[in-house]
Amino acid sequence: MREVILAYEGEMTMKGLNKGTFEARLLKNIRWRLAPLGKFKIHAAQSTIFIEPQSTEAGDADAVDMDEVYRRLSKIFGIVKLSRNVTCAADFDTICATAEKYLGAALGAVKTFKVEAKRADKRYPMTSPEISRDLGAYLLDKHPHLRVNVHQPELEVMVEIRDFGAYIHGPKTPGAGGLPVGTSGRALNLLSGGIDSPVAAYCMARRGLALHHIHFASPPYTSLRAKLKVQALAREISEYTGNCMLFVVPYTKPQEYIRDHAPEVLFTVLMRRSMLRIANLVAAQSEIEAVITGESLAQVASQTLAALACTDAAQPLPVLRPLIGMDKTEIIALSRKIGTFDTSIQPFEDCCTIFTPAHPKTRPGLAEIEAAEAAMPGLAALEEAAAAALEKLPIRMGDDTEF
Ligand code: ATP
Ligand code: MG
Repeated sequence: MREVILAYEGEMTMKGLNKGTFEARLLKNIRWRLAPLGKFKIHAAQSTIFIEPQSTEAGDADAVDMDEVYRRLSKIFGIVKLSRNVTCAADFDTICATAEKYLGAALGAVKTFKVEAKRADKRYPMTSPEISRDLGAYLLDKHPHLRVNVHQPELEVMVEIRDFGAYIHGPKTPGAGGLPVGTSGRALNLLSGGIDSPVAAYCMARRGLALHHIHFASPPYTSLRAKLKVQALAREISEYTGNCMLFVVPYTKPQEYIRDHAPEVLFTVLMRRSMLRIANLVAAQSEIEAVITGESLAQVASQTLAALACTDAAQPLPVLRPLIGMDKTEIIALSRKIGTFDTSIQPFEDCCTIFTPAHPKTRPGLAEIEAAEAAMPGLAALEEAAAAALEKLPIRMGDDTEF
């Protein structure tokens, strides 16, 4: 049996004249993601993408790991549903035998089914209702526990007759949804070692943003293990975001300078503004149009409305905060779903947790923040030096995620 996967386009089908751009990007993302697994014929027709393994001199289509192909496709944004299918010769006996071989186990696990047949090849000797009826009878004979339910079947057996043969569809399963990565521009994600920021990256990549990550490290207060943990997190979400860069900023000097020269109660907001100014400097070199953070309203003192307003005013790029209205329990559920939770909860210190005041001000005003910065004339030069000294780590999907 030769398998073909059908991937159904989601929201992008409503993009009118721009749909072609979205589809071209999705095809490119799929080709790139599947390239290591074999040779494929991939094409789009009527908002469906057909993915078929090819036999070549270098490889045999039957040897392609279709479970892995399906797994990878289910993490590509832009695809709303997926199904596996087999193709076979279009004579009725072969269709019956193939449907039983391909779907017999799935039919054994449900109580109700229906057969839906379509004929693109109108010269076929049976009509669509005849195919549905006779194939239904054949499958009922093989699985006497089954009942036909035409309105709400647990499993729908779909057969399509085309001029070159027949397709037998397996059940549809949900895809990753969203829009193809790369169709919305590029942003810089502030990645800490915590639970929230990898989830924020996932949420924005799902809206079509390509992204790089930036992490602030403060050795010796933060360890090499903490940096490796962040690298592991970036790799874990690269299945969704694609390959990207992780910029690691040596942040010790600006952070110590703020600690030594600013009112303690304003420390966290001043540090967050400083981080955003550095992110802005890095963004200017990489065609980046926005920054992303994992902030969520009122989660901590630096995430009150007043504190966020002060943070936003630090630099001109838009700050995207996809988790702003989410509860921690929802964020944790997403983090488990995308596979970053277990790494996020490893206990390594983040630079945000050092020097933090016991009682930070929850309603800082921009005037007092700017006055505190005016009293730190050496900070800008330290920030520029930190941005210039950053380490650039390429993040590649499929690399070892140990840390
Ligand atoms: P997270 O789980 O993402 O660490 P958090 O609840 O610990 O979130 P904070 O420590 O206040 O929240 O950080 C808020 C946001 O600031 C993070 O989600 C992240 O986007 C950014 N951030 C914090 N620390 C760093 C860091 N060391 N490097 C880069 N970004 C950071
Ligand atoms: Mg954190």
